[in-house]
Amino acid sequence: MQSEPQAFDRVLSSMCTEPHPVARDAAERFLATNPGDPGTYPSVSALEEEAIAMLGSIAGLEEPTGYIASGGTEANIQAVRIARDRAESQRPNVVMPESAHFSFQKAADILGVELRIVPTDDNFRADLEAVRASVDEATALVIGVAGTTEYGRVDPIPELGEIARSVGAMLHVDAAWGGFVLPFTDYEWNFEHAPVDTMAIDPHKMGQAAVPAGGLLARSDDLLNELAVDTPYLESTSQATLTGTRSGAGVASAVAAMEELWPEGYKRQYVRSQNNAKWLADALEKRGYDVVDPTLPLVAADVPRSTFDALRAKGWRISRTATGELRIVCMPHVTREMLASFIGDLDRLEVRASVPVASDD
Ligand SMILES: *Cc1c(COP(=O)(O)O)cnc(C)c1O
Repeated sequence: MQSEPQAFDRVLSSMCTEPHPVARDAAERFLATNPGDPGTYPSVSALEEEAIAMLGSIAGLEEPTGYIASGGTEANIQAVRIARDRAESQRPNVVMPESAHFSFQKAADILGVELRIVPTDDNFRADLEAVRASVDEATALVIGVAGTTEYGRVDPIPELGEIARSVGAMLHVDAAWGGFVLPFTDYEWNFEHAPVDTMAIDPHKMGQAAVPAGGLLARSDDLLNELAVDTPYLESTSQATLTGTRSGAGVASAVAAMEELWPEGYKRQYVRSQNNAKWLADALEKRGYDVVDPTLPLVAADVPRSTFDALRAKGWRISRTATGELRIVCMPHVTREMLASFIGDLDRLEVRASVPVASDD
């Protein structure tokens, strides 16, 4: 095989990043292990318990239970599955803001629950009145996002918890991306702040672990046990994961990254990323673009389609929000120099265009 993976020096659109060196090393060492078979691969199973303990301390959960999943998608599907299986209604529904990740569409499809999608407010957070109007006796789960994929917004989690409890529903928090930056902010997002039942929190995003390393956390064993099935041909007696054979590389690299970086390393990274996001937002604003205020290290700005396409043609890996804004995620590999070079390219394009390019939407 001749192929090489892409370099990260022009990647501005990814929610993943280069693994930390210790995470890369751990991933390589544990490549040939399978935590899905703990009777055969005991050392990686022990590491998985450490991973869950550390995720618990990051997310304010004293006696954490959960597992290292393939990613936020699996964690979200499993959270919906727990809620559906505990629901008394024959036609359970799940209520979430329109800002929630598309993985919940997959969950609803697979699990046969009704998805009720409510609007967000002017600040891109779940509209609480709309959530209140949507829940009923058949609501099994209310979902809040702590760090939305498009604008990095944090839903009002304690209020969503109150609404969920008022109809006997569970509360799931999707912190797949935000979980490793939110501990250094004033947001109320975790198990200590609200009656959170389950959470998605991914080491393979801001946690700097190798892919695949997602995290599912549950408030108590009985919630996780909803997922357990018997495993006749394995020494262990039951399995709660969606996948069977799993990556021990993901588990080991998650532990290595968290041991190395929690909390000080992650805190430094958050400060660096947030400063970069503010710098970029400021640079875009000065050039006359409408920018969505980066409350977490994620910047969205209204850049004309033609400019966007020209930047892509220059090799910048950038993406757009559903409404067409340029979206840049200030992940750990994104440096100030990269952003300055990106703005430099943008300026050269604008000079060439000589007259301001009108937005084509
Ligand atoms: C990335 C992301 C997901 C999906 O996680 P994968 O690891 O890609 O499966 C879910 N929710 C949020 C908020 C995300 O940012």
